[in-house]
Amino acid sequence: MKIGILALQGAFEEHEKVLDKLGVTSVEIRNLDDFQQHQSDLSGLIMPGGESTTMGKLLRDQQMLLPIREAILSGLPVFGTCAGLILLAKEIISQEESHLGTMDIVVERNAYGRQLGSFYTEAECKGVGKIPMTFIRGPIISSLGEGVEILATVDDQIVAAQEKNMLVTSFHPELTDDVSLHQYFIKMCKEKRQ
Ligand code: GLN
Repeated sequence: MKIGILALQGAFEEHEKVLDKLGVTSVEIRNLDDFQQHQSDLSGLIMPGGESTTMGKLLRDQQMLLPIREAILSGLPVFGTCAGLILLAKEIISQEESHLGTMDIVVERNAYGRQLGSFYTEAECKGVGKIPMTFIRGPIISSLGEGVEILATVDDQIVAAQEKNMLVTSFHPELTDDVSLHQYFIKMCKEKRQ
């Protein structure tokens, strides 16, 4: 199994290290060529944290937005963490345009945070268990469609959710030693491949 990691900007190396630890091959997707070259044997795609506006611009500049959107809509499992969640959202509050816009959630950027926007906590995640959560100026999911399942909440805010082949978190699971959320995603990828 091979999982692609969008490597335009942000915390992509940390995801690579987690997949490495789990014995899963990963490939950095830096441009359209990379995506097209690997698309047919990708079991999933991770979109890391970073700056969603920068990543959105790079996706557009490199003509990657439409092919990735189509692949997700065709069922490619995708895991968006923090800025990656924003990339997937159908609507971003106070922004005219969304980016990939495949997931039925409305998000508010830079909205989730105590202690100047960054903090650490632990909470229960459905299907995964109690996990550590590192927040860095994360987004809030302010509303969601019927097909979206809430997986975790902190302070009554949704911090992890899933809609079919799309898994998102407001926090950074790749910045802790806990690999269980990545294992959950790998399971989604395996189930899809069968
Ligand atoms: N604040 C960033 C954004 O709006 C997301 C932060 C992160 O990914 N840690 O894109």
